[in-house]
Amino acid sequence: MPYVVTENCVDCRYTDCVEVCPVDCFYADAKQLYIHPDECIDCGACEFACPVKAIYNEDDLPAELQHWTKINADKSTGSDVSHITDSEDPLPTAAAKKARLGL
Ligand code: SF4
Ligand code: SF4
Repeated sequence: MPYVVTENCVDCRYTDCVEVCPVDCFYADAKQLYIHPDECIDCGACEFACPVKAIYNEDDLPAELQHWTKINADKSTGSDVSHITDSEDPLPTAAAKKARLGL
């Protein structure tokens, strides 16, 4: 099952995940990243690269995060995102968000 970016990525956008993805299936808006479910090859590399634990295999999503499967599918295929294939600086809010998460 494809991997899914969830709430912890909002206001972070560390983009470590982009560096390790072998098929460049990440898409971004101003707030966070999303994984294209038909392009993800389920390798799992991004799950361990994310410093804020935002990425899950779809099968492992906790109940409170399961709505993120549809959000990733809708956003990654929509018109208001850009294909992101190289890492970028995290958002200015990233350090504070990471600290709030206790990570
Ligand atoms: S590494 Fe994590 S926080 Fe950073 S962009 Fe990827 S999913 Fe978002
Ligand atoms: S599981 Fe692999 S292919 Fe899918 S988004 Fe993560 S790094 Fe890319």
